[in-house]
Amino acid sequence: MLAEIKGLNEECGIFGIWGHEEAAQVTYYGLHSLQHRGQEGAGIVVSDGETLKGHKGLGLVTEVFSDGQLQQLNGAAAIGHVRYATAGGGGYENVQPLLFRSQSGSIALAHNGNLVNAAELKLRLEQQGSIFQTTSDTEVFAHLIRRSMAPTLKEQIKVALNYLEGAFAFLLLTETEMYIALDPQGFRPLSIGRLGNAYVVASETCAFDVVGAVYEREVEPGELIIINKHGIYAERYAEKRPRSICSMEYIYFARPDSNVDGINVHTARKNLGKRLALEAPVDADVVTGVPDSSISVAIGYAEVTGIPYELGLIKNRYVGRTFIQPSQALREQGVKMKLSPVRGVVAGKRVVMVDDSIVRGTTSRRIVNMLREAGAKEVHVRISSPPITHPCFYGIDTPTKEELIASAHSVEEMRQMIGADSLAFLSHEGLLEAIGRSANGSLFRGQCMACFTGEYPTNTCSQLLEQTVKQ
Ligand code: SF4
Repeated sequence: MLAEIKGLNEECGIFGIWGHEEAAQVTYYGLHSLQHRGQEGAGIVVSDGETLKGHKGLGLVTEVFSDGQLQQLNGAAAIGHVRYATAGGGGYENVQPLLFRSQSGSIALAHNGNLVNAAELKLRLEQQGSIFQTTSDTEVFAHLIRRSMAPTLKEQIKVALNYLEGAFAFLLLTETEMYIALDPQGFRPLSIGRLGNAYVVASETCAFDVVGAVYEREVEPGELIIINKHGIYAERYAEKRPRSICSMEYIYFARPDSNVDGINVHTARKNLGKRLALEAPVDADVVTGVPDSSISVAIGYAEVTGIPYELGLIKNRYVGRTFIQPSQALREQGVKMKLSPVRGVVAGKRVVMVDDSIVRGTTSRRIVNMLREAGAKEVHVRISSPPITHPCFYGIDTPTKEELIASAHSVEEMRQMIGADSLAFLSHEGLLEAIGRSANGSLFRGQCMACFTGEYPTNTCSQLLEQTVKQ
């Protein structure tokens, strides 16, 4: 479904390059391909080997760099960031990369994810005299680095990383080095590639295709990669724990042309649709997917059931940012602006409407209504994820537990609330097996399922959950 109107948003995308004379330009194109991961702000910091220089602003990548700012960013190394403003709030000061200058040199930081112990760490740092310029938890990491007594920057970074809990994919740039780190459970995707002699790193591999880079490998959970004039080195700062890559990356967030942890997203979604067809078949005349994420799923569902796939809903691609607003009223208004039913496809038909998730239920109800108004005889809703019953604390902006419709309602109650003729969700096993991470077989490589199960892979989350319920 459409991220900006559903109320379930990715919080960031990061891109970096080392050893390219047009580093800022390449980063611009890389960020542009990651725009779906955050539309509220963007920024790039470059190093020319002696100084760091950056530009950032609120808005889309094309808006932030619309006035010749890229031409001012000269240097062979760059990191960039696209942001969705929730963790720490919006505002210019929270747009990344964050740039910190000191006597001993500068560091720029770009972060995708969310630290579950940021508030606790911040309190301790403030008690020790730290003053924070932003409300972003990313700044906590910079203070931890600066407060470390370790002899080298690399060791300081390792010490700081070991204080962090939660989901983080970090890019850190100094005048002479780039550091790349992924949390020990690998919640967020992060890949490395080559562009000629240059190294590139990105949240999603679609960015490599856009800039013409070749994929090399995933960054391993608990790994710290250092790139400087001598080459590229990989070290560990923490023991690898069982991987907890976010299920939602496959279901909903990542672009279908990306590979996440080696698994192609379109193929994973098609397999979700095939599995959904086996678990929840229905007599119908057409299958349609809610664009963009559910089209691949609908194709898989149609393939197994033999019901023809049709384009029953189309997306209006020219609705501006006015409708990318984190308010529920605008999100609901946005459904009508963003989606249109194709009357000729659905009128008089029994329609299977495939979507990736149900969050509050309001968006699903509006789409079901829209299809009925366009003449659909029956609307059967099939969801390519299990019910979302718990909030995420790892960098996905979800509503509180109370606002999640599935946290307090049965499938039958939800069916009535959204006005569908039938409703079915994918099972937990179905999700893992379809993506290729079977819970029972040797394929299992670890996937976070916390928003479907309430079993959080890190400690602090049960306290955070209590806080969100009380608020
Ligand atoms: S809780 Fe859900 S959205 Fe958050 S990381 Fe885990 S699977 Fe992804």
